[in-house]
Amino acid sequence: MISVEEAQQIVMNEVLSGPVVTLPLQDACGRVLAGELQSPIDSPLFDSSAMDGFAIAACDLARHKVVGLVAAGNTIEKTLHRGEAMRVMTGAMLPQGTTAVIPQEEILKEEDGTILISSPVTQDLHIRRQGEEVRAGDLVLSKNTPITAGAAGFLSSLGILKIPVFTPPKILIFPTGSELVSHPSALQSGKIMESNSCSLSAALFPLNLVPRIVSPVPDIPKVMHAMLEVALSENDFVLITGGVSVGIFDHVKEILASLKVKTCFWKVAQKPGKPLYFGRKNNTFVFGLPGNPASSLVCFYEYVRPALLKWMGFPDCFLKKCEARLLKPFFKKEERVHFVRGKVFYKEGEWQVDPFEGQESHKMGSFAKANCLAVIPAAVKELKEGDAVVIHWL
Ligand code: AMP
Ligand code: MG
Repeated sequence: MISVEEAQQIVMNEVLSGPVVTLPLQDACGRVLAGELQSPIDSPLFDSSAMDGFAIAACDLARHKVVGLVAAGNTIEKTLHRGEAMRVMTGAMLPQGTTAVIPQEEILKEEDGTILISSPVTQDLHIRRQGEEVRAGDLVLSKNTPITAGAAGFLSSLGILKIPVFTPPKILIFPTGSELVSHPSALQSGKIMESNSCSLSAALFPLNLVPRIVSPVPDIPKVMHAMLEVALSENDFVLITGGVSVGIFDHVKEILASLKVKTCFWKVAQKPGKPLYFGRKNNTFVFGLPGNPASSLVCFYEYVRPALLKWMGFPDCFLKKCEARLLKPFFKKEERVHFVRGKVFYKEGEWQVDPFEGQESHKMGSFAKANCLAVIPAAVKELKEGDAVVIHWL
């Protein structure tokens, strides 16, 4: 059995970023940049006004003669001379010779074609200088930058409308267990609802990933073998649930071995999720998630999600962490990391976490209300109310 840190390290070492595709900017939002981008233009592209007001050519003068007007979008050939002003709109190109822009609201008097201002004014006031933010040829975004709304807006302002991004992986959810049914009408005695595919696909949704899902696969080696063979050839990630523990009907590991999947690890010192399996065949990654619903979802958040984010090129792959004060005492016997479903909230100047009842791995009610996993380290057997713990945000 390996530690949580070792297991996470192995996953992150094995999984590399996926293939790259060039997409129109609108289609690339939510993905991650797969190369460096240089600006084809200066930004701003020309000296322009930051305000509706008047361009002036002498900062020490109070009176200026208005000699014209420039609207945003117009070109201006004329040069402004000392003592002259020109009415300008926000974003308008400034005439040569402009030393400052005086906002409309700050004009003391406007009469007989002249304006009166309170002088002197600061040089370059309210002028957006050409290239002040970006010079043509500058590196504007580096590889592995997520294409957020802000990034998309920035790139489109520079006229960069096609970008290389990492492709999302093809994912298959593969629930196993002869006891599983997909519809309550099929719930005869001994059967249970298959729920892992629902929780896992819901957990993929915020990552903009839509998996394919197979109907529950019975614990019949021949059937599993045939289906897994196809699954491995068609997907980047195969998320098997169930059948990876030590029961006599847990055939998954054997079958994967016969299909030449290399085992990277099996069993992690954690609760829930001890029987977690991770393997690889060429560029297809296989997670054998424990069948119990809470175990499979915890393993998703702690291992599968980081692997998928790494494949998609994201720089931060693990759940966000913070420290919180535990609101109930906690005891455990095992030297395993416990991931405890709970609710974290901010109160009286600090984060506090309420660990829920019902932490057994078949119970999902606690997960349904949880917004975090409180992480109790392997070596810690007992925590008092008020002790600090690290939580992972769900
Ligand atoms: P296993 O890991 O196959 O031994 O499964 C452990 C427990 O999880 C058993 O009680 C299974 O019935 C249950 N289980 C396995 N797969 C699922 C699933 N997809 N949905 C709900 N429960 C499951
Ligand atoms: Mg099973």
